[in-house]
Amino acid sequence: MVSLDVFQIGLYSIQNFDQVYPEMSSNSDRVDIAHRALRQAIIEQALKAGTKLPEDEIGRHFSMSRTLVRVVLAKLQAQGLVDTYHKRTATVAQPSLAEARDAFAVRRALEREMMKAVIKRWSPAVEKSLIDHVREEEVAHATGDVRLSTRLAGEFHLKLAELSGNALLERYLGELVSRCSLILAMYSRPHSSECAISEHSGLINALKNGDLEIAKQLMDEHLSSVENRALVEDDSAAEPDLGSILARFTSRHSS
Ligand SMILES: [Zn+2]
Repeated sequence: MVSLDVFQIGLYSIQNFDQVYPEMSSNSDRVDIAHRALRQAIIEQALKAGTKLPEDEIGRHFSMSRTLVRVVLAKLQAQGLVDTYHKRTATVAQPSLAEARDAFAVRRALEREMMKAVIKRWSPAVEKSLIDHVREEEVAHATGDVRLSTRLAGEFHLKLAELSGNALLERYLGELVSRCSLILAMYSRPHSSECAISEHSGLINALKNGDLEIAKQLMDEHLSSVENRALVEDDSAAEPDLGSILARFTSRHSS
């Protein structure tokens, strides 16, 4: 396995992807790695809203053709993370506050519905997997790892979608959670955690008790409180270097 240092020295130092990743030569692997690296970099705001994503630079970094880069960008666009334009450079999406409200409205409706499906499929194994996840969230919170906390908070909701047994709901919610993570990263107060862990525990209790109305109400309130933490914030950090950010996120998604 390649050491992280290879990637941390930056985009232009990687001359040949095949030498670095001999085992990952298929196009779908490349698309998958590039998609996950860019998605994470956007959600964590290492790549800020409006940042240009030139096809040639991304193609060079991941050793892929512009055609494949366009496939990656189209996937990110479907998730609401990237804006693409004909004959213009794609950019990291900048959802407006109105679009942000719309995304949360759809998410609330879907997640309320999801409660019904999860209660129907409730079992000790389901309960354990959710409780274990909340424990992970608590550990991440205690160690002050904001990035990990943010990722785990979103994954709690994706885990519920998976447990619902409805593949379409899982897919749509996956897209919505990505979109909402970008919105929260753009608009949230600094240092506010994405989801209150105690609220996740409350949801598990309601589901365990088979109380659908309470579960729906708690989910509605939970997502509303997450949404209401969103405030416009002027973040005037220095313009980051696309190459070094891609290098950092590629290394995370290559193992
Ligand atoms: Zn949550």
